[in-house]
Amino acid sequence: MKIVILDGYTENPGDLSWEGFQNLGELKVYDRTSANDIVVRIADSDAVIVNKTPITKETIAACPNLKYIGVLATGYNVVDVRAAKERGIPVCNIPTYGTTAVSQYVFALLLEICHHVWAHSESVKAGIWTGSEDWCYWCYPLIELAGKTIGIIGFGRIGQSTGRIAKAFGMKVLAYDEYQNNTGRQIADYVSLDKLLRESDVISLHCPLLPSTKGIINKDGIQKMKDGVIFINTSRGPLVVEQDLTDALNSGKIYGAAVDVVSTEPILADNPLLKAKNVIITPHIAWAPKESRERLMKIAVQNLEAFLSGKPINIVNQ
Ligand code: NAD
Repeated sequence: MKIVILDGYTENPGDLSWEGFQNLGELKVYDRTSANDIVVRIADSDAVIVNKTPITKETIAACPNLKYIGVLATGYNVVDVRAAKERGIPVCNIPTYGTTAVSQYVFALLLEICHHVWAHSESVKAGIWTGSEDWCYWCYPLIELAGKTIGIIGFGRIGQSTGRIAKAFGMKVLAYDEYQNNTGRQIADYVSLDKLLRESDVISLHCPLLPSTKGIINKDGIQKMKDGVIFINTSRGPLVVEQDLTDALNSGKIYGAAVDVVSTEPILADNPLLKAKNVIITPHIAWAPKESRERLMKIAVQNLEAFLSGKPINIVNQ
């Protein structure tokens, strides 16, 4: 079996091993592949593995030997799954691998807004403490989370994991989701989106990007929020109208925001958030601790193994 990985770099920049795939066939790994090289590199491969490189209908038609498409991610919108299905090619994804990593990251962002640990440390290294009249000082308001309310929009795997951590911090947890379940009820009070927006001190987004959730955080919703709310987005950029978030940060309506995802990635130079006040922007890294990428690699290999044994798993285009 010939296996080709078109964009392996973000999953394995050198600290993991592709051995699992090597054991299954003749493997060729590319760090990145530009649009012009996709068909040439797939050539007569039996299996193609991608992260963000698009596999279009035209590519599928141009690669007659292709029998399997594996995605190194949960989201599989980069593959034309219908065209693959018409050719009888299963597309397999990684349904869950990053739950603990992403929910931990929500708190990395939130705690940075509450304490500005890095900026305080830098101020000490710059001599501010040495020259201080007092035995301590702080450059920003310091915020305690216990007793505050977090509102979680999308209460699935990552949302619930975030809710559990919030409870450990002594926070009250509100959740909004189209579907409710008993596990969720043990962590949070399910409420309407309106109530969540009105009553939360911190709002964290964890719903998927769908036509119904695009722009779910916009001017109207922001107006309903408490003055001085903290906003976190580790889910998908287009869930937020970025100009509206920028305006709310600049006016002080939103005290601080942290986003790991933006509308277009990599971020465009004219993204309004780049010039907004009190915003932390990170380059889509919530998923990426080594432990999380190891899990992803293991499941991606298991997916291909299962396909080869005739009992495919994690198929998204059945
Ligand atoms: P999940 O499917 O377990 O949970 C999503 C929840 O959102 C479900 O409970 C679903 O019912 C709910 N939902 C769907 N439509 C909704 C709507 N209109 N309003 C409110 N809730 C709605 O998914 P998950 O594993 O928890 O992942 C959540 C999201 O996190 C993913 O969709 C992805 O966008 C994002 N993510 C980001 C990173 C990162 O590195 N930043 C990594 C992994 C996942």
